[in-house]
Amino acid sequence: MSKSKRYNMEIVNKYSTKEFEDKYTYTENDLGANWTKDKTVFKIWSPVAEKMSLNLYRTGNATEDTLISSQEMKLEDKGVWTACVKEDIKNVYYTYTSVIDGVSSEFCDPYAKACGVNGKRAMVINLEETNPDNWDKDSNPNEKLPLCESFIYELHTRDFSADKSSDIKNRGKFLGLAETGTTVDGEGKIKSGLDHIKELGITHLHLLPFYDYATIDESKEYDSKEYNWGYDPLNYNVPEGSYSTNPFDGDVRIRELKETIKELHENGISVIMDVVYNHTYNEDFCFNKAVPGYFYRMDKDGVMSDGSACGNDTASERSMVSKYFVDSVLYWAKEYHIDGFRFDLVGLIDVDTINKIREGLDKIRPNIMMYGEGWTLNTKLTKKNVLLATQKNVDKLNNFAMFSDNIRDAIKGSVFEEDEKGFISGDTEGYDELKKSILGLPDWSSTPNEVVNYTSCHDNYTLFDKIHLCNEGISFEQAVKQNLLAISIVMLSQGIPLMHAGEEMLRTKEDENGEYVSDSVRSSDYVNSIKWDNLKKKEYYDVYEYYKGLIAFRKAHKVFMMSDAKEIKKKISFIDTDDEKVIAYKLIEDDKEIYVIFNADDKERDVKIGSENDVFKCYINDKKAGNSELESCNGVVSVKGTSCKVLIPVLNNGSRISYN
Ligand code: CA
Repeated sequence: MSKSKRYNMEIVNKYSTKEFEDKYTYTENDLGANWTKDKTVFKIWSPVAEKMSLNLYRTGNATEDTLISSQEMKLEDKGVWTACVKEDIKNVYYTYTSVIDGVSSEFCDPYAKACGVNGKRAMVINLEETNPDNWDKDSNPNEKLPLCESFIYELHTRDFSADKSSDIKNRGKFLGLAETGTTVDGEGKIKSGLDHIKELGITHLHLLPFYDYATIDESKEYDSKEYNWGYDPLNYNVPEGSYSTNPFDGDVRIRELKETIKELHENGISVIMDVVYNHTYNEDFCFNKAVPGYFYRMDKDGVMSDGSACGNDTASERSMVSKYFVDSVLYWAKEYHIDGFRFDLVGLIDVDTINKIREGLDKIRPNIMMYGEGWTLNTKLTKKNVLLATQKNVDKLNNFAMFSDNIRDAIKGSVFEEDEKGFISGDTEGYDELKKSILGLPDWSSTPNEVVNYTSCHDNYTLFDKIHLCNEGISFEQAVKQNLLAISIVMLSQGIPLMHAGEEMLRTKEDENGEYVSDSVRSSDYVNSIKWDNLKKKEYYDVYEYYKGLIAFRKAHKVFMMSDAKEIKKKISFIDTDDEKVIAYKLIEDDKEIYVIFNADDKERDVKIGSENDVFKCYINDKKAGNSELESCNGVVSVKGTSCKVLIPVLNNGSRISYN
């Protein structure tokens, strides 16, 4: 193995020693620029710098030579450098310049709260001035909602409003998330945007990363071909500039994001932020310039760990990296009133850091959601005895849920094998896994509170595309049936349901050549944007109504939202159907029984759930879902091919009534 060209390994190999951590772990909460009218105090942590300077600029664009002044900073305790400017420098931009090993480099403040265009210069800010009116009265509208009673909608900010059919004025922007009164193509019949998701009945909007990310050039005009999901973190504590109406002015994106969150809250919707602490965009990350090599996992020769498959893994097990992540999450929760956090590849972050975040969040507000991707990945830890926040360690975490690939793959087949089928296509390999998932208890979990159920998200093919790929030549009608069966399983299982935005409109990610795109991270709006005008077609509108009906039905029956494993085992029992293509179960809610049947065969099946004299009312069938009675039948139920049926027996004085 070659020695690192980038890092002085003699220094890097000391970072993980107890001596280094004891000597240089800084525990105060004042890193960054702290503005008051009389003075601004700057603090930056770098125990390895020989010299550190503060540079003040008139403008935030790093291509403009607008330096006001530079001053040397003073080294204080624990490797913290400080400077104080004794005048009002609100809205002045700044950077730091370090000299390390004789080499000087200029970088943005890792603790920047505001910055200029493209995030190269930080800005001194009075955050109070960015607050909307009555911000102090703003709160999480679902603060008291138990976890499993939430409905999460996973959305990319730009996808929501990039297409003209959305009728949204602030296309591709934060503000576009919060516009009300919009209708598809502005025709006034079918709702779009925020009104649409409200009507659908979701409670939580999970937004793909919206901290300042690297690859979109914010200085250019709106370009419909330039696009990124945002898993390329640049400034962790600043909102992304391309989602604001003016990325040049450091105040604007902050104010617009807060206004958006407040508006969503007022419409009953909580906001979940997708956070990516497991890797940075690249090694030019500002913290890594301040303390080279400290932020990442690498072996003794400087070979970088790459469990994230993004070129680097952050070393969350080091005290100041851990502190940085904790400080960052708590800052978003406090300053922006964020109601939940989705952790990208959380299986790369250590359990202690995640539990510290949990503890901090619990002190801010009750019921701030935390969940993430707990996949087990190969990473080079810099210390011994570090536990990682993987699915199998979920019991070591406090109130943290994991995405369930168990239910996802059992429903539709592996996301890694495009032609592999799942239950909805009649493949029963995942039968046992599916039954465990229906109870919200895959092998790694002990309560549905730890389980996020989904069948598709931004990653991989959309559900509708996957169905087409693994069922060659499938008809539109049959593909719709499989789609509805898939979401029925998610909505009628124990756990926290999450859906991919647009799934309720049969979202596809087809490119200009008619090819389905699996990884649309850099694809154009053409591929990624939500095409609202689909809702004008009857077959698509029926699908949307079905999703809405499923959510409404689940909301009306708490027995689908239990959190205790013992109670679940007491109240849910599977019915022997003697056929792995047909899963049927009974739930007991108070004095009532609810029967759920999933028929994955494409042929109609009879399923016996009672006698021929019993009377059942059906609330969900192959065509409709909701809380109104669709049809009556007896205890031998005919279930259409590739469909779900939900029935409740009619009772009289607590006993089943009979046709006789
Ligand atoms: Ca950016």
